[in-house]
Amino acid sequence: MKSLGHKMSIPVVLLLVNLFLSHNLIGQVSAYKHTEAFKLGFYPYPGSAYRSASGEPGTEYWQNRADYNISCQIDTANHMISATSELYYTNNSPDSLRFLWLQMDQNINKEDSRATSYDNTLSHVDTAFVNPKFTNGYEIKSIYIEIQGRKYIPRQVLSDTRLQVWLQTPLASSGGKLKLIINYAFKVPGNGGVSTRVTHAKTPGGELYQTTHWFPRMCVYDDIQGWNTPPFLGPGEFYLEYGDINYSVTAPANMLVVGSGELINPSQCFSEKELQLYKLAKESEQTVLIRSPYPNNSKINKVWKFQIKNARDAAWAASAAFTLDGAKINLPDGKSCLALSAYAKGAKSVHEVWKHAAQFTKASVEFYSRIWSPYPYPVATAVAGFTGGMEYPGFVICLGVGPTGPGVWSTINHEFAHTWFPMIVGSNERLHGWMDEGLNTFMNDSAAIAFNNKELTLVDTPKPGPVSVDTFAIDGLLAEWNQDPIFNQHDVLGRDVNAVYDKPAFALHQLRNNVLGHERFDAAFREYIRRWSYKHPTPWDFFRTIENVAGEDLAWFWRGYFIHSWKIDIAVKKVSFLKSSSLGTMYNSIQLECLGEMPMPVEVLIKLNDGTSQRVKVPVEAWMRGELHYITILNEKPVTEVRVDPDNLLPDTNRKNNNWKHE
Ligand SMILES: [Zn+2]
Repeated sequence: MKSLGHKMSIPVVLLLVNLFLSHNLIGQVSAYKHTEAFKLGFYPYPGSAYRSASGEPGTEYWQNRADYNISCQIDTANHMISATSELYYTNNSPDSLRFLWLQMDQNINKEDSRATSYDNTLSHVDTAFVNPKFTNGYEIKSIYIEIQGRKYIPRQVLSDTRLQVWLQTPLASSGGKLKLIINYAFKVPGNGGVSTRVTHAKTPGGELYQTTHWFPRMCVYDDIQGWNTPPFLGPGEFYLEYGDINYSVTAPANMLVVGSGELINPSQCFSEKELQLYKLAKESEQTVLIRSPYPNNSKINKVWKFQIKNARDAAWAASAAFTLDGAKINLPDGKSCLALSAYAKGAKSVHEVWKHAAQFTKASVEFYSRIWSPYPYPVATAVAGFTGGMEYPGFVICLGVGPTGPGVWSTINHEFAHTWFPMIVGSNERLHGWMDEGLNTFMNDSAAIAFNNKELTLVDTPKPGPVSVDTFAIDGLLAEWNQDPIFNQHDVLGRDVNAVYDKPAFALHQLRNNVLGHERFDAAFREYIRRWSYKHPTPWDFFRTIENVAGEDLAWFWRGYFIHSWKIDIAVKKVSFLKSSSLGTMYNSIQLECLGEMPMPVEVLIKLNDGTSQRVKVPVEAWMRGELHYITILNEKPVTEVRVDPDNLLPDTNRKNNNWKHE
């Protein structure tokens, strides 16, 4: 059934005779303003040669590039990492650059860091982003610039987690290159909580290091902001340039090192038997135990060499206590890659679940590769560490050492979905957290549904996604509808994580289920991934892409869900059984009212007293002329019941006014 048109738009309602049924159900004043909801001029800037109006990278789109060669060493006696990084920077921008900015994220752990003060806006130290055992941050030994055969020490200005490096001669636009050589060290702070990213602690089998944000990384210079230099405060994680990262970790020989990308010297790191099992795992659907913990300390060192291409970052972990499992991941077009999981002996219940982690990794990566786009790296490694859950390219850390942990499956699934956002699609998470966490949470829901009642649930319970409004209400989101709008800087939303995670995910489910339909939404979402793989999209590029591919003006939707926190409240206002003077027949007139600020398409279930029922789909255009909409049912029988949103799909803030029944 379809809606019979707009308010007062058909002749049948021109001469109304209200016979005997009229129920005015509500006296609430509508907050809805149709001219606000459908206001013109949504986009703040038109398309350009850099970013096209259709949401694609423009013909002159550019981004800079950062490649790294890093060698580092762990000093386990002092928990120090010392390293040399060679950073090869290419300036593809149309501007020559007189200085560079680097992210110095280890400085978050200094006692006087801005993040320390930012953390104090929360009351609990256990979830702080800064380890209360402060360190000195990065200890820079030397910095050299190498450009066109010249080598010099540049002038440097340190400001919290940012370092400015002044060049003696500007770096040329459109392809100018230089090399930055940095010798540095930092102390790994111990016993970090669930929100800290870099830490070490004892496990029953030995010390475990999770080493992240461990090298000075180039800030992004882009066509939107120029240099992106927000300080690292904790929530806003990534905005980094793409490049190839080669790194080596020198560690005591009894330690196992796992990291982003592929181990390129396995024959020098594994015993002969382990090497055989490592190769076997690459071909095995079942989990292969590659290596067990090494109990003995070692005086000699081993060098582990890794490489990850086209990546924004790299992280690694090391411990003698690690068990290493592996299994084959099947990718589209007959390709494959390797799932690894490394976990140390901890509480029995957690340890038992981690035995399934290679299969969780395999299932998650296979699912997203099939649905959206293929996983791009040769290895996907999950590590049981101290952080609640944290993603890096090809490498995730999930809580797995203490006596309890969050659902290992749901955490691994969430963290590996970050491969697509923000590792493949490199949005600016320092500013727009929802483009990474929200899109990711949306993807997780579909995976959780796909895996529901399957083998994985036997060992761990997937988190149900906020697909139905019931879950949404359970999550407390509905009650918190007055929360901060999604369209805010990530760090500003630090207290209101729903605005970064579940609310944007829920909005995308709404867009997919209730506005565009699965076919149009999925094509648009997939196209967004394709267009912006290894590039830097803005929210406007996302909005424009979805609109252009789906062929729908969605300004009202972005406005309501993302820019503002508009409420949805659609009510039955009045039901009348009338006689049409022109047709001479009886008909039912059902008056709906949009009471919230946000218009939405809605389905209405109508029952008649002859026992029949019908569903009417009311499109969003029903609200273009104002808050009232009439559904006309030409029938000699009166309506006995009306239910707005009968399947409970909309986050309607007041469901009490959704139903009408003839008494
Ligand atoms: Zn996340």
